Formats: sequence, structure tokens, C-alpha cells
Amino acid sequence: MKTKLGMVMAVCIALSQGICAQHATKVVAHRGYWKCEGSAENSLASLQKAYEAGCWGSELDIWLTADGQLVVNHDAHTLDGLEIEKSDFARLTQSKLKNGETLPSLDAYLEAGKKLSPMILVLELKTQSTSERNDELARKVVAMVKAKAMEDQVEYIAFSNRVGTELIRLVPDAKVAYLNGDKSPAELKKLGYTGLDYASGVLKKNSQWIDEAHRLGLTVNVWTVNKPRDLQYFIDHKADFITTNEPVSLLDLLKK
Ligand code: MG
Repeated sequence: MKTKLGMVMAVCIALSQGICAQHATKVVAHRGYWKCEGSAENSLASLQKAYEAGCWGSELDIWLTADGQLVVNHDAHTLDGLEIEKSDFARLTQSKLKNGETLPSLDAYLEAGKKLSPMILVLELKTQSTSERNDELARKVVAMVKAKAMEDQVEYIAFSNRVGTELIRLVPDAKVAYLNGDKSPAELKKLGYTGLDYASGVLKKNSQWIDEAHRLGLTVNVWTVNKPRDLQYFIDHKADFITTNEPVSLLDLLKK
């Protein structure tokens, strides 16, 4: 009898932990964790600091250079004014970031990230100037991830539906979320996305989309949420992931 009760209790605990785990919001550092000493957006330091802070994932932005290489940067231009799509890799990777690092190649970024497993790398593919370049970007990023055997350590996000659907076509098993905020969960499901990753304002205006997405088996990520009150709103509304410039504040809130 005692053993039976013990087993029932063990099952109950396991179930409740399972339920908790399902609803626990995960922390994604937006462009790495850069609001700290020695860091900068999309730098290798920001990746390391996201890991040290205990983030579940770290987001980064990827561009295709004029000579068909992959680099990590948010803006279309470097700090010293080079347009990434019109500049060559060798020159771009001499450009400095705000913390003095040189602009990282995707290759270097993935190599660094691989050592920080199990932290997930959330790869944003920036929208390029032509459809051909969008397809080339998707193809080359997927190939590099595969060459490094990092398929289980990455997720993909994109504003461009063309890039998103190309990623889905190239890697049907990958996690791909759409950023642009103009499609309902049902539309995304139909297109083959595994999640939505929408601006906080979009998700506040369409708060039913969170439940709708979950009913369809889609994940919900929200960006870029920084104020404690907004972070708490999306924890309470059961976002699966929150992308934030304040990962340490979010991690503190989640401990409460
Ligand atoms: Mg981004």
C-alpha cells in the first residue's frame, strides 16, 4: 500500500514538473548580452556573457557579403560605414564593433557557440536586397550549420516569408519562427513554421494569438521586451520565449 502511494506521488510530482517545464518561459538574449562591461551587440563577448548569465538562448543577426560569405551584424552597415551587402568579407571582418572586437564571421560565431552548448543560438537571417540573395543566404547558413553538426543547437527566425519558407523547405525538421507580425498562427501553421516570434506590441494587440499558437502546437517568442512590467506580462501570458536586452532582470523575475 505504502509503495503504491509512493508511486502515485512520484507520478504526480513528475507530472507537475512536466507541466511546469512546459510553461516555463525561456530567456533569449537579444543580439547576445551586451548591456554589460566589455560587450557589444552581436559580439563574441555578448555570446559568452549570455551563456555566463544563464540564458537559454542567444540571438544573432546574419548577412550575406558581396562576395557570398556570412557575417554577424545587426545593421545593414558597419560602424565605419560599409554596406555589408556591397562589401567584401575580408574588409568587413576588419571593421570594429563598439567593444573593440572585429566584426565576427558566422563561422567564428558558430564555433564559439558550439563550445557553449546547450545554449541555443537563435539565428536571424536578415532580409537581403534580392530574392536570389535571400535564397543564397538561407542555403549557405543551413549548409554551415550542417557542416558543423549544430542542427540541434540552432533555431531560425526571419522577417521575410520567402526566407522562412525557404528554410522550412531546406530543413523540414528545423525550428523556424516568423518575425513580421502580419500572419495569424493558423496561417503560419499552414506554411510549415514551428513558431511565431512577434513584437510585444503585436502580441499585446492580438493576445488571443498566444493561446491559438499553443493550440496549434506552435511556440511563441516575443521581442524585444525590456521593462519589468512587460516581462511579467509575457511570463503571465505564458510566452515560451522572451527575447530581451535585459536577460539578467528576466532571469531574476523568473526565479521569484
Ligand atoms: Mg535580430
